[in-house]
Amino acid sequence: MSILEFTEGAERKFAADRMLGRLVKWLRAAGFDVIYGPHLSGYGLIRAARAENRLILTRDRGLKQKQPPEFIFLESDFYDAQLRQLVRDCRLKWGERLFCRCLVCNFLLQARSKTTVENLVPPYVYSSQERFSWCPKCRRVYWPATHQQKMVAALEKIAAA
Ligand SMILES: [Zn+2]
Repeated sequence: MSILEFTEGAERKFAADRMLGRLVKWLRAAGFDVIYGPHLSGYGLIRAARAENRLILTRDRGLKQKQPPEFIFLESDFYDAQLRQLVRDCRLKWGERLFCRCLVCNFLLQARSKTTVENLVPPYVYSSQERFSWCPKCRRVYWPATHQQKMVAALEKIAAA
């Protein structure tokens, strides 16, 4: 078993309902495995969570009438308060695994050498960045940038609150 698989197996996985798009991006940025999509509400969400042993995150008050597996009802409409609730209720921790996952499709990113992304990123990015990764599913290329530093700062603030 690789270190990666071990980390994945030990990590809490989530299934988020379709009202939680903003929160999902933040959780993925923090490295968590979160499934999300238009089919994930009501019984679709329950089925998917059960199939992959995921903790349900929901804003749907009616979900508990549908006999879901373990779930967390998020009290706020705002992603920062939602993250704070998860830190409190699930003892979420972030650190080493920031930005290892595609924000759009949840796949783990793979490192790419600089020369292989020359035609995939804007010229100023190519000339100013040295480290690149990409999503094997949607082929988006990622690189460390100021928005990542801002997200890290925001996550640390939320974790410390
Ligand atoms: Zn992707």
